[in-house]
Amino acid sequence: MSNSFQLDGAEVPFEPGDTLMQAARRAGHYVPHLCWHERLGQSGACRVCTVEVTDAKGHVRKAAACTTRAAPGDRVANRTPERDADRRLLLQMLFVEGNHFCPSCEKSGNCLLQATAYEMGMLGPQFEEFYPHRPVDASHPTMWLDLNRCILCKLCVRASHEVDGKDVFAIGGHGIGAHLIVNSPTGKLGDSSFAEGDFAASVCPVGAILPKRRGFVVPIGQRRFDKAPVSEE
Ligand code: SF4
Repeated sequence: MSNSFQLDGAEVPFEPGDTLMQAARRAGHYVPHLCWHERLGQSGACRVCTVEVTDAKGHVRKAAACTTRAAPGDRVANRTPERDADRRLLLQMLFVEGNHFCPSCEKSGNCLLQATAYEMGMLGPQFEEFYPHRPVDASHPTMWLDLNRCILCKLCVRASHEVDGKDVFAIGGHGIGAHLIVNSPTGKLGDSSFAEGDFAASVCPVGAILPKRRGFVVPIGQRRFDKAPVSEE
């Protein structure tokens, strides 16, 4: 008999070792997330996938679905008003920490941060904006890096390490000073082994790593999240 847990009342089967996220995604359920990717290892950086788990003994705890192993008989609250309200707060914090001016960002309509904010019903910012001044790195011939939009999800770090085998990216600094760093003699992308065909070049969920000279090519109405909300992908 296969193992299963309940996700918002729906029975979800899982394989031994599965996280709640893996099993839920395989069964076609949406658990909001930014730093999880099915091809990459766990991170637990963004906390947007936080759910409330009631285990078989009745113990209740909050847990990141992407790093928590599924257990038989778990009852998991995912898309409840409380969980989505917490997610709205996390998203608003991400929006004010960077410069996420969607109307002038070519990732608009294809951005997981923006789409998740729409999904959670985020309206105006509730916190004061930080307005950071982080230099744009345009040293690479075909790609550029805008750290004012980076949400420190580490997807590019993991993609470069696990898939590309290059370790082009890492996270440096602490607290509010944490930032993406490029492993090259100058710290510039153009002096690294980064290539446009790398998985790390296409995995960024926001507009921080983008190809040069290819902005705004998809008409409004045909962009990724114009077609279907993130919860229905
Ligand atoms: S550059 Fe993009 S993929 Fe890399 S950590 Fe920042 S947001 Fe994530």
